[in-house]
Amino acid sequence: MRLTIVLMLLASCCYAQNKKSWNGKQCAVVLTYDDALNVHLDNAIPLLDSLNFDATFYLSGYFPGSRNRLKDWTTAARNGHELANHTLFHPCAGNMPGRSWVKPDYDLSTYTMQRLLDEVRMTNTFLESLDGKKKRTFAYPCGDTKVGDESYIDQIKNDFVSARGVKSEMVQLNNVDLYNVPSYGINGETGEQLIALVKKAMSENALLVFLFHGVGGEHNLNVSLQAHRELLVYLKQHEKEIWVTPFKEATEYIRKNSHSK
Ligand SMILES: [Zn+2]
Repeated sequence: MRLTIVLMLLASCCYAQNKKSWNGKQCAVVLTYDDALNVHLDNAIPLLDSLNFDATFYLSGYFPGSRNRLKDWTTAARNGHELANHTLFHPCAGNMPGRSWVKPDYDLSTYTMQRLLDEVRMTNTFLESLDGKKKRTFAYPCGDTKVGDESYIDQIKNDFVSARGVKSEMVQLNNVDLYNVPSYGINGETGEQLIALVKKAMSENALLVFLFHGVGGEHNLNVSLQAHRELLVYLKQHEKEIWVTPFKEATEYIRKNSHSK
């Protein structure tokens, strides 16, 4: 009898802890936007700002949406958004199926490791010139983590707080690989489908990272303005249960509050 009570107390205590494990909330949701598109500045950020949400923007330095809009990105950073590293030239492995679009000059399969590391580190300098920050996160272009046959994950660990991958998964606080954090690449989902992912994260006390490209156009991987808005409004309505925070903050929190590395 006594044992049963102890077990019940233990269970309720741990359950309560688990329920609040993300900065006092049930789950964490990170909104990330890749490839420095104009629509991020023109469509996503005004809505994010109006709802008081901070998001993460993975910039490749040479994309026109980076080069032509330096002041706008600086303003975004000043308003609380994270400018994050997506390399200078967005190199992807051209020797994989479906990669005929990769230009030979920026084919990761023919890079040297040093060339890649120079490019990655120079992008940190580029971003620092925009926002003055030293601590940075990274996202692997195309999710590729190898230069030729060699992984570059270990080579960049000292340069970054954490890095985002592209596997569609949710992860629990104690089970995160901080240098390959999964994310859901979004393309064509409805608001309802996006919200269903958030509900799953809430029920599993998980970290959910969204990966957007186009928001109302500008990329063939795209989310409609309506679906994007529906998701953000839902997040706002459930702010008490959901921690919406940039990638850097979420992963720094994980490092501090769990066994994840
Ligand atoms: Zn990209």
